[in-house]
Amino acid sequence: MTEAQPAPAPRPLPPVLLLGVPGAGKGTQAKRLSLRYHIPHLSTGDIFREMAHAESDLAKRVWNDMRQGNLVSDDLVCQVVAERLQRDDCRSGYILDGFPRTLPQARWLMQFLESGPRAAARVIVIYLTVGYNDLYRRLLGRRSCPACGRIYNDFTQPPRHAGVCDLDQSPLVQRKDDDPAVIRERLSAYEQQTLPLVEFFRGRGSLLELSGGEAVDRVTGRLFAAIEQAAPESPAAGAL
Ligand code: AMP
Repeated sequence: MTEAQPAPAPRPLPPVLLLGVPGAGKGTQAKRLSLRYHIPHLSTGDIFREMAHAESDLAKRVWNDMRQGNLVSDDLVCQVVAERLQRDDCRSGYILDGFPRTLPQARWLMQFLESGPRAAARVIVIYLTVGYNDLYRRLLGRRSCPACGRIYNDFTQPPRHAGVCDLDQSPLVQRKDDDPAVIRERLSAYEQQTLPLVEFFRGRGSLLELSGGEAVDRVTGRLFAAIEQAAPESPAAGAL
């Protein structure tokens, strides 16, 4: 099974949350899920990278946190996510990539989902695991297309021609925070602040653990199967 696998007819899905260390492949897999289920891919990292370009004090604060590998404050993240989830394109489901990332964010999200106008009965939380030995290679080799957003990796998923996007031939770029010193900080923030979420969601019975260390297409196939098993195609199961 690959990203080219025919998509099922659009249907509502519970919110899908992707958990995992930076470099586990959340962004790549989220893009494939978005195409298959016709639901938006919401990456708080992408939202902040875009925000950080603006000329404002808030943008400067966000950029400072990001370039040092620190997390942006919970208040700001939750405010940005609340605003985004209320848009119409989130009615039939969405994929959260990189959120929640701290226990306060997770608690906020569950409360928001349970009490909001579009109360979600449950969430599907996918925990993508990957061995630490692979991570530096993945993060250091990561490149993306600034035009279409497609993600490559010089070691594990290279483009057909070095340095250019297969789809639109744009020169590929490296994220500024995929730098060895910043990577160390990001991994440490992950261990201290995000890893506890695994137990938080496991305790609520909504965690599905998948190895993200295998070939990208194989991970995608397992992910599709896990989601379709967790949300079988029946109106009751899919209801938001
Ligand atoms: P990512 O692209 O998900 O690796 O995120 C890049 C950076 O954006 C992180 O290192 C943080 O500085 C910031 N960020 C993204 N999502 C969050 C979040 N949920 N909470 C706090 N900071 C975040």
